[in-house]
Amino acid sequence: MDYENKILQKYNLCNRCYGRIYAKLMRMGNKDRGTSIKTVIAMNFEKKLKELFEEKNMIIESSTQTPLSETDEEKIKKIEEEIYEIQKNLTILRKTGLNGIKNEYIIEELLKDEIEEQKNEKNKDEDKKESKDDVENVDNTPLTPEQKCPWCKDVFNPENLEEISNKIVEALSEYEFDKFLIGTRLPKRMKELEKDLEVNFNESNMESLRNEFGRELGKILTNKLKKPVDKETPDIVVMVNPYNQKIYLQINPIFIKGRYKKTKRGIPQSHWDCRSCRGRGCEKCNFTGKQYPTSVEEIIAEPVMNIAKGSGEALHAAGREDIDVKMLGKGRPFVIEIKEPKIRKMDLDKITEEVNNSEGVEISNLEYGVKNDVRFFKNEPHTKTYCALVSIVEEKIENYNFEEESINELPEKLENLRIDQRTPHRVSHRRADLVRVRNVYKAWCEPIDNKLFKLTVYCDGGLYIKELISGDEGRTKPSISEILGVPCYCKLLTVMDVHDENNPANY
Ligand SMILES: [Zn+2]
Ligand SMILES: [Zn+2]
Repeated sequence: MDYENKILQKYNLCNRCYGRIYAKLMRMGNKDRGTSIKTVIAMNFEKKLKELFEEKNMIIESSTQTPLSETDEEKIKKIEEEIYEIQKNLTILRKTGLNGIKNEYIIEELLKDEIEEQKNEKNKDEDKKESKDDVENVDNTPLTPEQKCPWCKDVFNPENLEEISNKIVEALSEYEFDKFLIGTRLPKRMKELEKDLEVNFNESNMESLRNEFGRELGKILTNKLKKPVDKETPDIVVMVNPYNQKIYLQINPIFIKGRYKKTKRGIPQSHWDCRSCRGRGCEKCNFTGKQYPTSVEEIIAEPVMNIAKGSGEALHAAGREDIDVKMLGKGRPFVIEIKEPKIRKMDLDKITEEVNNSEGVEISNLEYGVKNDVRFFKNEPHTKTYCALVSIVEEKIENYNFEEESINELPEKLENLRIDQRTPHRVSHRRADLVRVRNVYKAWCEPIDNKLFKLTVYCDGGLYIKELISGDEGRTKPSISEILGVPCYCKLLTVMDVHDENNPANY
């Protein structure tokens, strides 16, 4: 504890700020705590002061000599110095808001000088406009200890809190939300002040002004907004600078998850910029800036964005299928993130209906998700079932006949087969070149004619099926071309299902 008043000698902290330094001790308001500590310190000083006065009188009374001997003079001088120091400290305590100290213990000079100085400071701005002699316009009310306090600068003043909270209520009025959080931004010099208190005065029990301000403003706002503060998952975080009343809103995104099917080929999963103009708009793309007229992402996002009025969206899915690949079965899990939505509560059945009226994309199992779903969908390994039409590459291999050759043995050879797959040639420009290990668990074959057969595989997600068939010039090993001993390619591909715990594979 600051019994020597070292902190207050450096920073003239008001009662509340002084109490905040010891916020982790005793359950009470910072202001009460600060007043109490200052009181104890003042009481110690007063006690010491009384002793010094008595000591001084004793020396004078018991002295036989007039004038006093040199030793006694020396003693008294020392005592008076000590008295002055204590009175200086008591003056600081009075100046920073502690009432009850006897006037005779205060050094009026120190109190006055300070007030004058502060007044000049306060009226500096007015001085610029008015003549210095224009006394009437000078604010003569003395500054309060809070106004003088270098830490809070009176930001806890009910007027300031009221103004800030009204500003926030207005800023929030165009957003729908259930719970919010106040975040306080401190100017750099305040952070430095707090750091100095913590490090140089070794005060590990202090609370940041950021905390208390957020708490006090939160109380007022919960009342005004009739909505609770939520530290874990607030819909909106209101960032406030208490000193200049600047407000910044962080509108947290909403997440809606479900599964999508793509019943039509030719639709990419996400928006692609036109290759010719890179999205600026040109003749080739009919000035849309798009390489393809629509995408799974756009089809799902449109009705959601129309209602939510967000600033943007992002579709996160458990893997992706190529543009020419259908996605069937129960569908691929996805979560759509709507950034900075104005509306958060939507009729998900109606959105499902709207999406399902589109051509090519169907969604189901729509429900609200959380931020963690994004990571989950991206990282959780899924298994998948694919169906591919496999064809022989060389038409001239006339004598080759799938129906007679090793095709019947293919399922057995593929079962529980480890595949080493180097990043396919066709995606190597946008993916890191590395070798992935994926497994085929089960396969089924069905001949269609002597150059074509249907292949169904159940395998790890992330296995590139087109390359599993072609071999990708040796980048995928082993491959179906390699096993059959004849170059094959994937003519048509469909994702039959994406499996997860809600949609397990029963093979
Ligand atoms: Zn203060
Ligand atoms: Zn274009």
